[in-house]
Amino acid sequence: MSSFSDLNLPEILLKTVESLGYKEPTPIQEKAIPSMLQGRDVIGAAQTGTGKTAAYALPTIVHLTAAREELAKPFPRALILVPTRELAIQVDEAFKKFAAGTPIKLALIYGGVSYGAQLAALKEGANVVVATPGRLLDLQERRQIDLSKIEVLILDEVDRMLDMGFIEDVSRIIRLCPRERQTLLFSATINRTIREIAGWALREPVEIDVRSSALTADTISHAIYPVPIFQKYDLLLALLERTRYNSVIVFTRTKRDADRITEWLQANRISVTTMHADRSQNERIAALKGFRDGKYNVLVATDIASRGLDISGVSHVINYNVPEHPEDYVHRIGRTGRAGNEGEAFTLFSPDELSQLKAIEQLLGKTIERKKLEGFLYRQEPLMFNSTAVPAKKKRRNR
Ligand code: AMP
Repeated sequence: MSSFSDLNLPEILLKTVESLGYKEPTPIQEKAIPSMLQGRDVIGAAQTGTGKTAAYALPTIVHLTAAREELAKPFPRALILVPTRELAIQVDEAFKKFAAGTPIKLALIYGGVSYGAQLAALKEGANVVVATPGRLLDLQERRQIDLSKIEVLILDEVDRMLDMGFIEDVSRIIRLCPRERQTLLFSATINRTIREIAGWALREPVEIDVRSSALTADTISHAIYPVPIFQKYDLLLALLERTRYNSVIVFTRTKRDADRITEWLQANRISVTTMHADRSQNERIAALKGFRDGKYNVLVATDIASRGLDISGVSHVINYNVPEHPEDYVHRIGRTGRAGNEGEAFTLFSPDELSQLKAIEQLLGKTIERKKLEGFLYRQEPLMFNSTAVPAKKKRRNR
């Protein structure tokens, strides 16, 4: 097993990672950092929680600080493109920590807020821009940002950007950057569309896949709670009342469900907040901050919170619905059991959701245990469907 000092990082960064408490590189860091330091393009299949931000930030810092005088240039030299505002804020914060003690300046660019601070950061000569696609293009069209000198382009959570309909924006932004550059592409899943983008946007990329370790994180225990559909609210409340938790994220499929469940839990005196795409940017930031700081113990959210966000100390994830896409299950439960902590993932399951549940069990390669909540008054005997999951091909354990 390697240590950070085997990775050829400069002393200042070795001190930084040590001060952050990182003892050894994660698999993606171990694999991506040497290739990036050689200037290679990288395509990485990795979810959040794998340490991918440091994997791309550390070598980018090395690249940017190689020649000090270059840092004084008044245009951005690295661009990190991310799908959501929340992820942009998080990446900006993480990058600043990694770049502490260097003169690197950042600009954080996302929509839904005024332009003032963002323009000021650009005018001050930001070296690194962390941006969501819409606002970035908006500024580019107003000639407020120059992408023609980008040396390192990082496309983060590309699958998510495509899901959100940003494919054309992302393609345009890539084309606005110079051909001669280093490009890194990270995505939780690598499908055909992503391969196509990699085909024209990357040059002989090194491929890195660390997904299997994330899928089998064995600090998380999973349970399915079969329940008649009309008793889901009651079962959710009963589960919360009988579970000892620090903080819980309840995932819903729709924004409307998120609002209704939040009201229901509030009415039952649970300390709860909510986050979904119809809430204003300020409301979303306040909800996330309140949840992180422990003001609220429960966050009810749509899949907007299932990817990317690094919220530590989440002890439980509860799926109010079985997620429609099996990958979403993996993303959602990835909010708990992070960094070796224990976590529990409960899924409320009504009979109409059997096909989605089967798809998840196929992806995981195992059957998830069905449980009945003792003492809960089931109006109908819940059907404890067992599904026919395929056995795991090869189980690789998380380190
Ligand atoms: P990320 O996947 O980049 O969102 O990182 C997930 C979490 O892991 C963040 O809280 C990081 O601070 C943390 N982290 C990243 N690299 C390491 C490491 N080598 N050792 C311990 N924690 C890490």
